[in-house]
Amino acid sequence: MTPTELRGLIRTVPDFPEPGIQFRDITTLIAHGEGFRAAVGHLAKAAQQSGAEAIAGMEARGFIFGAAVAVELGIGFIPVRKPGKLPVPTIGIDYALEYGTDRLEIDPDAIRPGQRISIVDDLIATGGTAVAATRLLRKVGAVVSSAHFVIDLPDLGGATQLREQGVRVDALID
Ligand code: 5GP
Repeated sequence: MTPTELRGLIRTVPDFPEPGIQFRDITTLIAHGEGFRAAVGHLAKAAQQSGAEAIAGMEARGFIFGAAVAVELGIGFIPVRKPGKLPVPTIGIDYALEYGTDRLEIDPDAIRPGQRISIVDDLIATGGTAVAATRLLRKVGAVVSSAHFVIDLPDLGGATQLREQGVRVDALID
């Protein structure tokens, strides 16, 4: 299936999680076997072209696509987790949200210095999550070569922010 066909498998849910937000829901895409496989195939091809040696995916929807891409390429998967989930000493980064802050954590032993890592997530909006993940991975010595998303919301400027950090960015659907 082409990215244009995949667009038809994404459901838009009005007023979630707050009034006025149009939530782009990938549940309907991953429930469709052919669509899920096609989306993973497109993401994997792009990550391979960036020379990915491992995939990092953000909790939680980034795990769904990121782990599948890693399996497809036969490379490792690094979970970028919400705070307090990993059973080992972590390295973390706090980042600003519209209201308040959030935090991402990784197990530094999961990464080799100089390893080329591609980030995978379902969607990039403001870019806050992906920029924080990039900074965190770089903190432990990784080379963040690219970031791949199923959906980009270009009006929110996240992809531009991430490119300004020197990361190659692509998305299947705008
Ligand atoms: P950002 O940090 O770029 O503003 O937001 C992206 C993060 O929030 C991603 O991890 C993504 O899963 C989640 N997110 C924000 N808005 C949406 C949305 O409309 N649909 C989905 N599926 N995820 C969203």
